[in-house]
Amino acid sequence: MNDIFFNEPNWQKELSGAVSDVASLYQLLELPLPEQVYTPNKFPLRVPHAFINKMKKGDPNDPLLRQILPDIAESLPVAGYTADPLGENAHNPMKGLLHKYQSRALITVTGACAVHCRYCFRQHFDYGANLPNSQDIRQICQYIANDKRINEVLLSGGDPLNINNRRFNEWIGALSVIDNIKTIRIHTRMPAILPNRIDDELIEILANCPKNIIMVLHINHPNEIDDALAQKCQILKNHGVVLLNQSVLLKGVNDDVETLCQLSHALFGIGVMPYYLHVLDKVAGSAHFDLPIDRAIQIYWQLLEKLSGYLVPKLVQEMAGKPYKVPIDIYKRPPT
Ligand SMILES: *Cc1c(COP(=O)(O)O)cnc(C)c1O
Ligand code: SF4
Repeated sequence: MNDIFFNEPNWQKELSGAVSDVASLYQLLELPLPEQVYTPNKFPLRVPHAFINKMKKGDPNDPLLRQILPDIAESLPVAGYTADPLGENAHNPMKGLLHKYQSRALITVTGACAVHCRYCFRQHFDYGANLPNSQDIRQICQYIANDKRINEVLLSGGDPLNINNRRFNEWIGALSVIDNIKTIRIHTRMPAILPNRIDDELIEILANCPKNIIMVLHINHPNEIDDALAQKCQILKNHGVVLLNQSVLLKGVNDDVETLCQLSHALFGIGVMPYYLHVLDKVAGSAHFDLPIDRAIQIYWQLLEKLSGYLVPKLVQEMAGKPYKVPIDIYKRPPT
């Protein structure tokens, strides 16, 4: 790794240039500013230009805009939507580590993201108390090495690619020497939000890692897929990284069969296999993205009808206390 030089790369400039005020966003999108805009103090607007550039100008209902624009509906409490719907706080054996499923351990590498997705299920997670420092890295790795049932580590967050290459390399290095770990999985929205984050240094870190590397992208709509992303996926694949995608089923974004079919085909076109389609986690502030489970099941049957088997993601829901992501029982509402 001696030939890696940790530069101050361009992506960090792009990251700090992310748009955080609604007026600028509307101006860039050539939209008139509404009379009332919602500007939450916690989890405020945050979106890099690279993602804004994929939105359609003049369309207030753009599906990418909807994912990131704060909506007054977030501030209204809705029964059944809570701060910790997944019961994650109960599976937090030490700072920075979630061990909920037997063979996989999840590390919250950072609380920060390049973008603030309004439906995010971790938007209320107590990252302050959960951000591992260098000493914690040692402890976490010790825990993982001691539990031989664990064969895979997920780097998550926040967005694990929000940290710089030097710190990311620290994690990869520490995990690479644990015998029982076969696979390191990186759950990130960064390639779709800020493709330049996938820079040469990062590629080299991943290519040199002796473990299997999986990157699970998080893309919800086909408009998120463009040439810049396609190029980065090609490079990742050339270096042996397995590419999967997870989406969240979101009202007003991707809750129709055509959009989801287009998404699966577009993903496959850039070498990414659909993995999960998540039913929304009932996190406080996200109710306006939810749709009735019957509707989700109806859409899913239509997907099964239209798509090649390998293009159909698994429809799942996370449930507190369950030792796996729970497959949705689609037979509750058979096809019509
Ligand atoms: C989603 C998740 C995993 C990974 O689950 P898979 O079904 O293997 O994708 C592991 N740990 C936690 C805490 C998770 O939320
Ligand atoms: S990138 Fe992921 S963790 Fe970050 S806000 Fe979006 S959904 Fe949440």
